[in-house]
Amino acid sequence: MKIRTRFAPSPTGFMHVGNLRTALYEYLTARHANGTFVLRIEDTDQERYVEGAIDVIYDTLKLAGISHDEGPDIGGDFGPYVQSERLSIYKPYAEKLIEEGKAYRCFCSKERLAKVREDAIANGQDSIGYDRHCRDLSQVEIEKNLNYGIPYVIRQKLPLSGETTYHDCVYGDITIPNEDLDDQILLKVDGFPTYNFANVIDDHTMGITHIVRGCEYLSSTPKYNALYEAFGWDIPTYIHLPLIMGKSIDEEGKEVVSKLSKRHGSTGFFDLVNEGYLPQAIINYIALLGWAPSDNKEILTMEELINDFNIESISKSPSVFDYDKLLWMNGEYIKAMSSDEFLSYAKVYYDKFAISSCKYDLLEELLKPRITKFTEIEEKLEFLAKYEEFELSLFEHKKSKSTLETSKQMINEFLPILESIDESNWNRDYLGSKFVDFATEKEIKNALIMWPIRIAAAGVAVTPGGCSEVLVLLGREESLRRINLAKSRLEI
Ligand code: GLU
Repeated sequence: MKIRTRFAPSPTGFMHVGNLRTALYEYLTARHANGTFVLRIEDTDQERYVEGAIDVIYDTLKLAGISHDEGPDIGGDFGPYVQSERLSIYKPYAEKLIEEGKAYRCFCSKERLAKVREDAIANGQDSIGYDRHCRDLSQVEIEKNLNYGIPYVIRQKLPLSGETTYHDCVYGDITIPNEDLDDQILLKVDGFPTYNFANVIDDHTMGITHIVRGCEYLSSTPKYNALYEAFGWDIPTYIHLPLIMGKSIDEEGKEVVSKLSKRHGSTGFFDLVNEGYLPQAIINYIALLGWAPSDNKEILTMEELINDFNIESISKSPSVFDYDKLLWMNGEYIKAMSSDEFLSYAKVYYDKFAISSCKYDLLEELLKPRITKFTEIEEKLEFLAKYEEFELSLFEHKKSKSTLETSKQMINEFLPILESIDESNWNRDYLGSKFVDFATEKEIKNALIMWPIRIAAAGVAVTPGGCSEVLVLLGREESLRRINLAKSRLEI
């Protein structure tokens, strides 16, 4: 049997990382088995529809590297792939169930249903579902209602007693008492299918063999199965995924874990991308939210994910979305980048500081190990554009044995040496050798000269790279200008 999976998002305008994980696992399940991955848009609930949301879905999948084999944009043999374009498909299926006595027309008015509900609540009943008033109407009553043109919905007759068990690959056997199952509506008064009905008809008619979705659907699955059974169709393989949780600190300062939401951090794919997380790192990270390869390797390409993915290793315990871990992973992806790729992300920041291309190699070397997101570059290079009157106490540094007094002396003595170096020698190696020669001659530690020069040039304590690198990045003229300024400030 060829595996067919589908991602069936509702276009609500936002791709939560949980939905993206579902899409990824469907994709991996299909690709691992050389199967087919289908994209279907579930837009029967027009009230939830958000303009432009379908584009968010396409853009997300594309950027995430999750490619579908069939879908609204590329077609396929099982289309249309948008539910609102399939409306004529559903009704005949519901009518077939009526003919077979497995479904019935329910003529109850909204008012009656509201009253049933109210009474049930007043009586403290647990189950406040439909009271099955129309389930056993006589043929005469049905004809009469139809002749009067009374609007009706179509409901499925579900078993009144016993239990239903189904198997889920992650959660095992799930059993629920049948009395918990309401006689579900299949077609609404306006002839539109309900969400559950359309979902099952679509999955079956699209030949879907494996259904991957969030565990919030575990409890409605018996209803889906009741439909498969009523039609005599094979029940698909179910793979329900555990919740994704987030960590936060409560008022008493205790760490609490709850369903991942905005208060934990960004939860939307594009929000994370805009914050500087790389799509590949996000995908790699969310692949591990509930699944791990047998060798517990953490950095995996899409290729490796496809090879290693297996349904059996999906865990049912909820996983915690750890932003620090994602950040670490992002840094690992940056470190592994080729120079061209690194530059393609970093260039926008280089351009902001009007950095000439001859410094790109040095910057890559300095920044690659120091950043976990490209957005950090801006802050790291800020000293190039900004030189403010900094606190002179920055010159004091215990480890380098640097004090205001030594700084003043070092700058006074070294500035003429720096000034004698011409543009063509203004490079890391040459500058570095000058510092070392000076320190050797004076019999001092390198740090005693490098610390004050770097502070004087950068005006900040933390810089990407040491003294010579800072001087190279600033260029000869700007370095000398700044060190002269610092010199006069120290002399006052
Ligand atoms: N349209 C549903 C959602 O976006 C998917 C349900 C399913 O996969 O069966 O949550």
